[in-house]
Amino acid sequence: MSHNQAWMERDLAVLWHPCTQMKDHEQLPLIPIRSGSGVWLEDFDGKRYLDAVGSWWVNVFGHANPRINARIRAQLDSLEHVMLAGFSHQPVIELSERLVALTPPGLSRVFYADNGSSGIEVALKMSFHYWRNAGRGGKQRFVTLTNSYHGETMAAMSVGDVALFTDTYKPLLLDTFKVPSPDCYLRPEGVSWEDHSRAMFAHMEHTLAEHHGEIAAVIVEPLIQGAGGMRMYHPVYLTLLREACDRYGVHLIADEIAVGFGRTGTLFACEQAGITPDFLILSKALTGGYLPMAAVLTTDDVYQAFYDDYATLKAFLHSHTYTGNPLACAAALATLDIFRDDAVIERNKGLAEHMGRACAHLADHPHVAEVRQTGMALAIEMVADKADKTPYPWQERRGLAVYQHALARGALLRPLGSVVYLLPPYVISPEQIDFLAEVASEGIDIATREAVSVSVAAGGPATFHDPG
Ligand SMILES: *Cc1c(COP(=O)(O)O)cnc(C)c1O
Repeated sequence: MSHNQAWMERDLAVLWHPCTQMKDHEQLPLIPIRSGSGVWLEDFDGKRYLDAVGSWWVNVFGHANPRINARIRAQLDSLEHVMLAGFSHQPVIELSERLVALTPPGLSRVFYADNGSSGIEVALKMSFHYWRNAGRGGKQRFVTLTNSYHGETMAAMSVGDVALFTDTYKPLLLDTFKVPSPDCYLRPEGVSWEDHSRAMFAHMEHTLAEHHGEIAAVIVEPLIQGAGGMRMYHPVYLTLLREACDRYGVHLIADEIAVGFGRTGTLFACEQAGITPDFLILSKALTGGYLPMAAVLTTDDVYQAFYDDYATLKAFLHSHTYTGNPLACAAALATLDIFRDDAVIERNKGLAEHMGRACAHLADHPHVAEVRQTGMALAIEMVADKADKTPYPWQERRGLAVYQHALARGALLRPLGSVVYLLPPYVISPEQIDFLAEVASEGIDIATREAVSVSVAAGGPATFHDPG
């Protein structure tokens, strides 16, 4: 028995994996990873995989990065953790100062949670609570875009719209307003991204005009709807949204959990629209992909609405046990140092251009409807019929064939349904990008070559997060 096999058997006897139908592992091998280095992961049999998705979009500077490792080690020797209520520590203070300085102007306070979904909950609760404290208790509802994803906890699911994750739990969720997404994949032929995104804003304007008296906040994933299939839109939508939220007295929550820290080509996606949201949520790459942590930044206006004598009960009495963990803060500080010292945003421009060139030919593939890109995120949408963008039935799991081919070739590509995407760590080389483009291209050929027969049950999800 191989080493992989032995670990897999021990694993499958006791673990329940995330976002997985465990029965799949009767056929699909589980890959136990022994070590990581740079863009590479290595399994227990010594096979290497190029991590093209940054381990679920968190890793930006490679695995076992010496600079991040050193910072965490040093922190470990002085303080591993202390509660953040009534106490504080150097890394959390330094990190908060630097996040306030780096994020769009006007964001002056940082509240921490320990994962992205919890960060979303914090922003939703703070917005709701702000309006109560301000004597506007009728503002209780949230507006979200179709095809959004904001995490897995109850309220985060409520503002999400990826059917696979939320449909089952519908009876448990908050009632939200869903507005059609500015997603440019769906634009009519010949219409630019900008014109389409601008035109789609009419739906948002309409909802805000009609219901602003009962709306606390609008929540969006700026520029890229990640788990919904790496769908993209133009920054003009965010500019219009900021202006309308101001006009109607509604908060704007920017979920930059996936897109923050350079993914869209700027450090934060909101910069491309020149806007400051009322809440900005960061996680994933915040710690370089090392440790779970989320930061929720907000304005002085929001902060002041909670600042009063204790007996007024206006305080935000929300806590996560590991709030502001010093080791996670140390990882984040080292990550910010690398962004600064290596001029990463500047260097990524060349890498992003290279990625675009390496994948451009895929647009001519008979089963590819679109190759789209925003900065260091590139997505390739496979379809059954290119002429009218007819999607493959989700039950056919075309992406799974790409996933399996990539593993055999030594790459970790984990499509979202029929959307193959590259979200590589920024330490990737042009040659490694070429390798990924080649593997993706071969995988797409294999996945789209022949008819797949499946027993199709009625209904079902439109897109999904697992290697469909
Ligand atoms: C990953 C993600 C989340 C949820 O973060 P977790 O840490 O997985 O809870 C929320 N929003 C977006 C846009 C994400 O990509």
